Amino acid sequence: MKKIIIGNWKLNLDHLEAIQLLQKLNYSLDVDIEEKIDIVLAPSHTSLRSLQTVVDTDKLKIQISSQDVSGYLNGPYTGEVSAAQLSKLNISYSIIGHSERRTVFNESDELINTKVHNSVDNNIIPIICFGEPDELRTNNEFLRFILNQVNSAVKGLRKDKVDEIIFAYEPIWAIGTGKVASVEDAIQVLSTVKEEVSKKSFFDEEKTRFIYGGSVSPSNAAELLNSKIIDGALVGGASLDVEKFVQIIRSIKL
Ligand code: PEP
Repeated sequence: MKKIIIGNWKLNLDHLEAIQLLQKLNYSLDVDIEEKIDIVLAPSHTSLRSLQTVVDTDKLKIQISSQDVSGYLNGPYTGEVSAAQLSKLNISYSIIGHSERRTVFNESDELINTKVHNSVDNNIIPIICFGEPDELRTNNEFLRFILNQVNSAVKGLRKDKVDEIIFAYEPIWAIGTGKVASVEDAIQVLSTVKEEVSKKSFFDEEKTRFIYGGSVSPSNAAELLNSKIIDGALVGGASLDVEKFVQIIRSIKL
């Protein structure tokens, strides 16, 4: 399975800074790596068009993701950005259900499911995030909690509509905390989710990736990313630093 590294820039960088970071990243990577690993950047909505234009004009291998997509298709929903609008910009992916959206913006499992449907209906690959809060990990409730999040997110998906999907395990206690999950913990969750998802009619072994996110850094990337079970990483903080992000990408043994 081709590995994927996704940089989630969150609410950082204006569009000029975003273009600079994309270009710096591209200069720091050789074409060989870009062909063997999917490298994806998720900037703010305001930078999507600028970055996609650079990617298209300079024929870069780096791909662009949005950080979110609307649960609505069009109409009187001020501030929303639809899957069709993203698709028109040639955006390839959308992060959906990030824990910051679930907790800060109270996004429900139902809304996340609608966003997943809207994405696949518009040929955008959903990067479905899920993960437990600290208190559930300690009392062993986390697997049930995670499977519930995953099952809700993919409810109603049909094989004829779904192309690729990415499932990203992001334990809340690991996001932005410097506390990374152990490889064993990440593998346990991702294998359990894979087993569950493989029962679904839309599942395609070749086109479904299971990745980890949460304080991935140059010091822990090699161990996580060279496991057969972990197909890649969603990287927050370290993706804003080109040197660190490149070190993470280079830690994958090709
Ligand atoms: C994230 O925001 O998806 C994330 C994993 O952040 P960080 O790498 O900073 O923990």
